[in-house]
Amino acid sequence: MNGPAPPAITLGDNVVYPLSLADGGVLLVDGGPDFDLADGEPTWAAAVRQARALGFAPDDVSVVLVTHAHIDHAGLVSRWAAVGARILVGAADVPAVRAGRASNEAQREPRFAELRRHGCPDDVIARLAALRGTRALRWTPCPREAMDTVTRERDLPLAGGDTLRVIPAPGHTPGNLVAFVPERGDLYSGDTILPTTIPTPGLHFPTAVDAELEGGVNVDAPRWPSLPPFLRSVAALRALAARRVLPGHGGVVDDAEALFERFAAHHARRARQVRRALAAGPTTAHAIARGMFPRLPAERIGQAMTEVIGHLDVIAEQGAAVAAARGGIIEWRAAST
Ligand SMILES: [Zn+2]
Repeated sequence: MNGPAPPAITLGDNVVYPLSLADGGVLLVDGGPDFDLADGEPTWAAAVRQARALGFAPDDVSVVLVTHAHIDHAGLVSRWAAVGARILVGAADVPAVRAGRASNEAQREPRFAELRRHGCPDDVIARLAALRGTRALRWTPCPREAMDTVTRERDLPLAGGDTLRVIPAPGHTPGNLVAFVPERGDLYSGDTILPTTIPTPGLHFPTAVDAELEGGVNVDAPRWPSLPPFLRSVAALRALAARRVLPGHGGVVDDAEALFERFAAHHARRARQVRRALAAGPTTAHAIARGMFPRLPAERIGQAMTEVIGHLDVIAEQGAAVAAARGGIIEWRAAST
């Protein structure tokens, strides 16, 4: 048995977990998204209301642990910082939290350019560019002075004697963090492990947004290969033998091992599919994704390509695939052994 369900603040699709610290403050796992709920209530007001119902005030929140710098997890951190919270952020995610919504905008052009390099046709990219999925979400930049950077595991004492271990788990973002309470076997997973979907490895250009740069955008930022570290992070978390997973979206999962097994099986299957495509001759990430998902609508091909590119990164790291640019397009083939 895992004991009672933990208290949680629910803001749209996102879950924010409050934990009592040994020093009397409250730590939140994630800051939550900033938008107006269907009934018009801003999520900040909903968070304050739910906090009060759980027995604490907004200014009791002394720490917000940002699992990763995505708009739905970090959108409200500037509000928590304004009422006195310290914001814990993985080092590589600090520029994005500091830039807020501008970090999303800065990733757009490098992402489209990368999809184009990997064989995505221009008309498909134009359709992807027309999608503005997070338009309704706000993300106010968080002042650097309010942030504490996490570069390695860190233990925070909880009320009652338990420990919250903050663990860098790069993958879903470069500075992605999770947290584990060894005494309870609870893993606060953010979006690293989710109950009903396999999280995307994404296409990341961590230096695309740079608050030191005038205008803030570095268009030549290199891509950070995300899936190899993502798979290593998840394997390391699996070895913790967590009893339950408390994810950033959806409910608590009491069979943590089943989630890890589903994640591993999914990526093993994808790796086999990509290797098979490579064995058939030189090809692009776009052609591989099209072959794997022939009926996928154009609007979703970017996501499929992201996963394929991730597996090409993994296979290349293993020395089994090589890339060569031809006419500005990256072609992949199996490495001759
Ligand atoms: Zn999320």
